[in-house]
Amino acid sequence: MTKLNEHLQKLPGNYLFSEVARRVSAVAQAGPERPLLRLGIGDVTRPLVPAVVEAMKRAVEELGREETFRGYGPEQGYPFLREAIARQEYQARGAAVDPEEIYVSDGAKSDCGSIGELFGGGGRVAVCDPVYPVYVDAHAMAGRGGDFCPRTGTWDRLVYLPCTVETGFLPQVPEEPVDLVCLCSPNNPTGAAADRETLKRWVDYANETGAVLLFDAAYEAFITDPALPHSIFEIQGARTCAIEFRSFSKTAGFTGVRCAWTVIPRELEREGVPLGRLWARRQAARFNGASYIAQRGAEAVYTPEGRAQVRESIAYYQRNARTIRAGLAAAGLAVSGGEHAPYVWARTPGGMDSWTFFDELLRKAGVVVTPGVGFGPGGEGYIRLSAFGSAEEAAQAVERLTALL
Ligand code: PLP
Repeated sequence: MTKLNEHLQKLPGNYLFSEVARRVSAVAQAGPERPLLRLGIGDVTRPLVPAVVEAMKRAVEELGREETFRGYGPEQGYPFLREAIARQEYQARGAAVDPEEIYVSDGAKSDCGSIGELFGGGGRVAVCDPVYPVYVDAHAMAGRGGDFCPRTGTWDRLVYLPCTVETGFLPQVPEEPVDLVCLCSPNNPTGAAADRETLKRWVDYANETGAVLLFDAAYEAFITDPALPHSIFEIQGARTCAIEFRSFSKTAGFTGVRCAWTVIPRELEREGVPLGRLWARRQAARFNGASYIAQRGAEAVYTPEGRAQVRESIAYYQRNARTIRAGLAAAGLAVSGGEHAPYVWARTPGGMDSWTFFDELLRKAGVVVTPGVGFGPGGEGYIRLSAFGSAEEAAQAVERLTALL
């Protein structure tokens, strides 16, 4: 009889968001005095911008006519999109990335998860603590996590890099050698963004040890300080040690449309094999390309109108983040993030644990947040607030929280 994947079976239930949903639904069903304000989920709420909508409409029209119909596209993405990304996201910032090094996909989540297929089972993987759970789950499923310990909430073969107030809520280069490092900047959930010096330390570490950096920059569009890098490829030496994941999800509201990309530079090789070649082979075996409509929509993000419209949506969320951050700070909470990311990371008052504060906010203020401990043990004592709702919700949430505190 066939055997099931033992590693997949070791994954704990999706405790965080299902538990949040369960508690929220209990309160919602009891009929709260005021509508609940949902600052928990990291999904966007602003509609697609007109330039994208028009481009997608044109693409649908093309597919509906015999002369312009298209079937399967290239697995790595259409040249029109790869060229626009290379030019505007990289070359415009002085990072030499070619269209051939860009692999368009249907999401950074799938790419962050699937990239592990390039690597063997034995390597050590380092992850942030707290962490975007996809990296942990994907490597654990592939057998690189070892065993899960319910008591500590950690996997025994993963190396956890604490992201605490002392480390600026970003991971430090570890003492021990590791093979793969999952980095995320601007960071989900802490909202911290790495500067050039920090990324240079990682690049030097990786080039010295042979580690590969898996750099997730899904939130780069939220960076406000022009001195901060948006891509790992703005850092010298990154082309021999890093893979980057990017997405239109949070940048252009594509969470429902689905379009993203991964960059694997030509110089990145291990065991004499270019990883880009291996990824192209993997994609050809498993993936039939992102939808033509989505790619035409994504291309429109790079038109002058598209850029201006998208910038406006991001500015809207950035204002929310500032409202939340400033409001919580004024109410006496220790806050970080929210300056270069759509997430505000706040310390719970009086050393309360994450879930207790979550319940207080939900029951007494009608505000839904995400308990920090759900992102790993290092998130205990924190909550994450998302700026992806409306401006009214952000302002009301601050008012209610201030009244509560
Ligand atoms: N990377 C990070 C850090 C995220 O927080 C998310 C979504 O919340 C993603 C990737 C997923 O991006 P996509 O919608 O492109 O799959």
